[in-house]
This record gives sequence, C-alpha cells and structure tokens, in this order.
Amino acid sequence: MSPTYSAVAYDPDISGVAQGNLVIQSSNAVFWGQAGEFSLPLKGLRLRLGGQDDFLFLEHSDFLGRSFATQDRAVLSDPNLLSFPELVDQIQGIGRHKHKRLRGWLIFLAIGALGIASLFPLRTWLVFRVTEAVPRQWEQDFGQALWDQMASELTVLTDAELQGQLDRLVQPLLRTTDDADAFQFHIIADESINAFALPGGHIAIHSGLILEARRPEEILGVLGHEMAHVQRRHSLRALVQQTGNQVLITAVLGNLDGISHYLLANSAFLLNQSFSRSQEAEADRIGLETLRNAELDPTALLDFFEILQEQEKRLGGAPPAFLNSHPATHSRMEALRKQIQTAPPAEVRHLDFDLAAFQTLVQEQASTITK
Ligand SMILES: [Zn+2]
Repeated sequence: MSPTYSAVAYDPDISGVAQGNLVIQSSNAVFWGQAGEFSLPLKGLRLRLGGQDDFLFLEHSDFLGRSFATQDRAVLSDPNLLSFPELVDQIQGIGRHKHKRLRGWLIFLAIGALGIASLFPLRTWLVFRVTEAVPRQWEQDFGQALWDQMASELTVLTDAELQGQLDRLVQPLLRTTDDADAFQFHIIADESINAFALPGGHIAIHSGLILEARRPEEILGVLGHEMAHVQRRHSLRALVQQTGNQVLITAVLGNLDGISHYLLANSAFLLNQSFSRSQEAEADRIGLETLRNAELDPTALLDFFEILQEQEKRLGGAPPAFLNSHPATHSRMEALRKQIQTAPPAEVRHLDFDLAAFQTLVQEQASTITK
C-alpha cells in the first residue's frame, strides 16, 4: 500500500483550500478530501518549496491553478516519485535547499476548520499577510508599469528645469526616509487641485495644486501624505482586498503567481480607487510626522485643507478634486490639530525655496503644453 501524506489542495473548483490526503501512485499524484478527488500526472510534475519554505508544492503546467501542498517531507522519498528520473533531479535540488523552520500548519487547520469565507477577521489577517508578502521590487515594477500606462494618457510636464526644482523641493522629505530611491515625483498639467500616488513610489501632483499653494510647505504636506500611502502600501492593500480567498491563500503560502496575474489584470481599479477613512487618517498622521522629521512646519497640511475648504465655500459647486478623494472632514482636521498640539516641540527651519518662481514656471509649462 502506498503511503499517504497530510496535504492541502487548491483548485479553481474549490473555494479556498481543501484539506485531505495525498498519495503518489505509479503515474499520478492524487489528492482526496471532502472537496473531492484531484490528480496531477507525475510526468511533467513540478516540485517546489513555498510558504516560508515550509511547504512542498506539487504543480503541473497542464493544470493551472491546481496545486497540492504538504509539510510532510517523507513524500520526497516516496518510491513512486523516485521512479521518475526528472523528479529525482528536482528532489535533489530541493534537498540542497536550506530547510527553514516549519510554521503555518496551524493556520491551515484554522482555515480548514472554520471556513475562511465566513470568518472576517481571518480574511483581514490574510489581506495583511499577503500584502506584506508581496516583494517591494514586485510592487515597484507593478507601479512602474501602471505609471507608464498612465503617463501616456496624461500631460506630464517633463521640462528639465521644472523637474529639477521639484526634485529640490522634495529633498527635505526624502531625507527622512531610507527608501528615498523608490520615489519619483511628477507634475501633471491639470487645473484641478489634486495629487495621487501609485504603488511602489510614483507620485504625481497637478499643476492646479501647485498654483493654489501659498507656501512650499503646503505642497510638501500633501506630498508627505502621498508618500505615506506608498510607504504603508495602501494601494496594494486595497487591490489585495479585492482578490478572492483562494488567490490569497495560495499567495500566503509563497506562490505569488496567482496574485500577480490578478493584480495586473485589475490594475485599472487603482485609477479609480479612493482610500478608506482609516488609510487617509494614517497617511495624515505619517505625513505630518514626515514634515516634523524634515524640520518643516507641521501645520502645512492642515493649512492646505483650510485653503481648499475656503475655496469650496467661495466658489460653491463641486469641491476640489483633492477633497473628493481626501474629504477634509471635521474629525480628520481635528485629529491633525490634536497631533500638532500634543507633539513635543520640534525644530522648524526655514525652507529656502522660491515658490513664486516655481509657480511661474509651472504656469508657463502647463499653458504651452495644453494650448
Ligand atoms: Zn490620501
């Protein structure tokens, strides 16, 4: 009788993950459990480690989306598996791979026993874990692809002098972070007062917002807030939030292929998303902290919200775009005020930046291009 191994299976036909047993037959790996029976041919089978290298995955290119995973390493000495020379090569490769501490089996049991779909906190946890598991480099490549796509549809001001001034303006913010290289700032010719951030580090600011500012610190307040969205991976989290449980479970075990495909296919969602209230509050808090760390006037973001509110009252009609995506609610402004009041006194230095000259150049460039 062939030995059996405790395993889990994913398949497009299973919602979530199924627990069961795995047996290696002479030409197939067969999983069975409550969700049914699934098999993968040994010929062409791919073996790899996933999770924190806790799990051995069995996959096959003819059965996309189906995989079996087990923590039982005894499967690697299964006689039926060893009778396939191509698998022997793979097993030897895995044997050379350093075996890290096992963990995660309990997670499986919890998920299996409780049923993930009905368990909201577990789902929240999954979203968190998967977002954490996506490598920064992947997120940056993804953001770059998105930016390339968007830039072709927007009017990006690429004048070297203008870009040089912008890059100089944001220096104090970049000095506060270890991942300064990840950020790239752009100006878009657009009269609406807005700014946005893409996953990975592209941050765009509309000419309209720059022209509305009274002090350079106000622009930096907005940019510090946008940087916080990037640093806290808010876009990525929002996207991950949209994905199905099965994709999440597979991803949490270290197979990011499914989620990569999903995120790329749904990237348009990012262009229309707005962040949750708690994400906005978090970005406010971190953005304000960034201003303080940069030794800039921490009241700048709050001041900018006030300008926008005044403008909204004065002009009536639709609120500025930035307020649409960033409603300056009473509670939000109160939170900023409180944070400013309760923070220990900080050094505030004068920012040496000629805002008027910058605005003139923005105005010129924006009008030449849009004419
Ligand atoms: Zn925001």
